[in-house]
Amino acid sequence: MNFICRATQETYPLDVPRWRSESGNLLDIQFLPRLDWEMTTLRPYDLWRYREVMPLSDMARPVSFGEGFTPLQKMSFGPKTAWVKLDFLFPSGSYKDRGSTLMMSYLRDRGVTEVVQDSSGNAGASVAQYAARAGIKCRIFLPAGTSPAKIAQMQFCGAEIVEIDGSREDTARAAREAAETTFYASHVWHPLFFHGTKTFAYELYEQFNFKAPDTIVLPAGNGTLLLGVYIGFWELFHTGAIPKMPKLIGVQAAACAPLYQAFQNGETTVPALNPEPTLAEGIAIAQPLRGPQMLEYVRETGGRFLAIEEAEIIQMWHHLASQGYFVEPTSAAVIAGLQFYLAHEAQSDERVVSVLSGHGLKSVEKMKRPLAG
Ligand SMILES: *Cc1c(COP(=O)(O)O)cnc(C)c1O
Repeated sequence: MNFICRATQETYPLDVPRWRSESGNLLDIQFLPRLDWEMTTLRPYDLWRYREVMPLSDMARPVSFGEGFTPLQKMSFGPKTAWVKLDFLFPSGSYKDRGSTLMMSYLRDRGVTEVVQDSSGNAGASVAQYAARAGIKCRIFLPAGTSPAKIAQMQFCGAEIVEIDGSREDTARAAREAAETTFYASHVWHPLFFHGTKTFAYELYEQFNFKAPDTIVLPAGNGTLLLGVYIGFWELFHTGAIPKMPKLIGVQAAACAPLYQAFQNGETTVPALNPEPTLAEGIAIAQPLRGPQMLEYVRETGGRFLAIEEAEIIQMWHHLASQGYFVEPTSAAVIAGLQFYLAHEAQSDERVVSVLSGHGLKSVEKMKRPLAG
């Protein structure tokens, strides 16, 4: 088990925490774990039942709330049906907890006592809660304009908040500077995070009775879920558990769709763009650091990216609420992508899965306008 630099292939031992390589590039983890399913299926229904696929020392104790193994529900769109995983039911209200539970377990085990993080909201809220659970000091850098509910969530759990008067990218820079003297627990840089979100794939495999679905429609901002899902199914594929990789579809908001544009133009890097505002703040990432990796993985599975207009996001948000699904608008964008895929591209017998990624309580202030009429 090693960290491996995405640019130079240089490797580093996993027992020394680091968030980037010596050359300053992104890291992945070299690891091909195999589960003993007979033992796994006897364990409690949370994501720690997949303990052996976590790149952690045997002695490490989980920083956990017993999270995961979220419900998988059928959802119908006219004559077509898909399955949706209810990942807004995590302790912090988003699937980011899949990554945080593993990353914070690793950091506590490695003796890290203080972290910094930057986030447009949900990753910060998640890291703040798991830092509190772990007894690790936490400082979070936020761009001005972050949802008040998400800021309250972080602060109330004891995180120190630093609001940066600038862009999302300025915020990340400020966090990296602070990380010179503490540890950067970034959900985008730290590769452990993706080995937590990969539990989404293991859960699906088990919930589909030890089979993979055909297609998975996922949010595509920084790719913390999309890349994790790829890693999980890649492991299942390379250990012979499944015969092929499922197709991955990444959903962006049309107002901020750099990956969609790169994909449509056949590019391997992500163009610079000036994003428009969008209700789907969770996927409004103008410069996704792991963008080239997301393009590569999605292409490799035969998938694609979709871009969803604001009007469709709002319409789907209301539709979901009318069915009792109280989620944030980012989740509605993903389900609008699912609906589009089902209507235009899915085969009749194709097994398609998607996700409800974030809880509605996080965006109550955004509901005021539609409620006022
Ligand atoms: C983070 C997040 C996303 C997007 O995930 P990325 O990792 O940025 O691709 C989607 N929905 C919610 C609720 C999120 O918190």
